[in-house]
Amino acid sequence: MNDSSSQAAAVARGGPVPAGARRSWAVVGGGMLGLTLALRLVQRGHSVTVFEGAESLGGLASAWQVGDVTWDRHYHVTLGSDAHMLSLLAELGLDGDLEWGQTRTGVYADGTLHSVSDVVEFLRFPPLSPLDKVRLGATILYGAKITNWRRLEQLSVERWLTRWSGSRTFRTFWLPLLRSKLGDHYRITSAAFIWATTRRLYAARSAGMKVERFGYVGGGYARVLARFGEVLRSHGAKLELGARVASVGGAADGVRVRLSDDVTHDFDRVVVTTASPVTAKLVEGLGEQERRPHEGVRYQGIVCASVLLRRPLAEFYVTNITDDWVPFTAVIEMSTLVDADRHLGGHALVYLPRYTAPSDAVTTASDDEIRASFVAALERMYPAFSPDDVLAFRVSRVRYVFPIPTINYSQRLPGVQTSVPGVFAVNSAHIVNGTLNVNETVQLANRAVEVLER
Ligand SMILES: Cc1cc2nc3c(=O)[nH]c(=O)nc-3n(C[C@H](O)[C@H](O)[C@H](O)COP(=O)(O)OP(=O)(O)OC[C@H]3O[C@@H](n4cnc5c(N)ncnc54)[C@H](O)[C@@H]3O)c2cc1C
Repeated sequence: MNDSSSQAAAVARGGPVPAGARRSWAVVGGGMLGLTLALRLVQRGHSVTVFEGAESLGGLASAWQVGDVTWDRHYHVTLGSDAHMLSLLAELGLDGDLEWGQTRTGVYADGTLHSVSDVVEFLRFPPLSPLDKVRLGATILYGAKITNWRRLEQLSVERWLTRWSGSRTFRTFWLPLLRSKLGDHYRITSAAFIWATTRRLYAARSAGMKVERFGYVGGGYARVLARFGEVLRSHGAKLELGARVASVGGAADGVRVRLSDDVTHDFDRVVVTTASPVTAKLVEGLGEQERRPHEGVRYQGIVCASVLLRRPLAEFYVTNITDDWVPFTAVIEMSTLVDADRHLGGHALVYLPRYTAPSDAVTTASDDEIRASFVAALERMYPAFSPDDVLAFRVSRVRYVFPIPTINYSQRLPGVQTSVPGVFAVNSAHIVNGTLNVNETVQLANRAVEVLER
């Protein structure tokens, strides 16, 4: 076997590469994508340094403290169908720590909280006529069975949903839900978005339209990330925290990473996992044709409050909100799933997300203003809730959360391999036929590493 074929065989096995083929890699971004890429690279025998701008690992999946509780900064669950994530958890030795539960779903519409957790409740959901409900149910079932997402990508989500559910159901049911996740960006979103969303939720239900089964690792992502860090370090990876990368560019012999304090490090190769607009700024020497697709990806951001409460609000994990006076777009009551006595100090933990475009006023509101308006809305929505129930309130703001799947999105993807020798760019913009979730992120890393190794 010649050198390159033995190397290819070793790579295919995922085993160590021959000494001559070992490279020094930098991974920019210590979110789940960067960490999974780092793991795949060290498993292949490369030396890896991860540069994470924040003081802790995890990015969108990182953990933080709310009052005396440490839990995820943004609500996270794993589904039984998340094969890539479940297999990563097994690699990290955490599969035995998964805890599973069944959750209920609510809708807050016209000032009333409705349970829509099973078929009977769904059929009783008042704002729709019996015919509307049949068409709605058929749309969801049909969407979950479609396999050719490329065809859906050519149509606007508004057109597709109106065609299948009817214009009244689109206006009263789908539009508030689309607006809650996409704001006005729903107008430029393709039908592939709703297809990916309903498919994932459908997969979460253990039998058709019955109950949802969600899981989490005991200790939350704080535990997952601590273990991920240990495993990477045990493979020799270096994890540089609080290391904000200012630029990535060619060096005489390899690639140079410059940090915001002007310290530089040289590597054979670098993979940048930050959101596309950030990547376009960080990587020096990208041609116009390469930069434009990165700059052209439209993102939704988020303002998400973690609220620790003395007592629960309701029995629903997710409550979707269709009333537009409510300043957040859903209520996620984590403590309906997570064992509150063991993990949450006996308290209720609620997330109040509001997905945002960069121009939304809420992105510049102070934490106190957000707290005042969110708590006032809870008071109006839940008669038993009192502001005195709030033990702690913390606000997370992220400008780039997920790329909007616009019409024919997959035809405008930024490239993974750049024209700057040794520099690669992989991020959530490369998830073309799914919603943003850790399972997709891990799958993306597993696939992308094959391109990095070419
Ligand atoms: C509200 C919310 C709810 C979610 N719920 C779920 C769920 O229930 N289940 C699920 O599976 N997934 C969920 N997700 C999605 C999940 O969080 C993502 O799929 C995943 O975290 C994406 O990881 P990433 O590494 O691609 O991106 P990120 O986490 O954004 O990682 C990018 C990293 O790059 C770092 N960085 C940026 N600029 C620089 C720089 N210049 N130098 C160095 N580092 C830099 C950032 O600090 C960050 O750590 C949710 C996300 C959100 C926001």
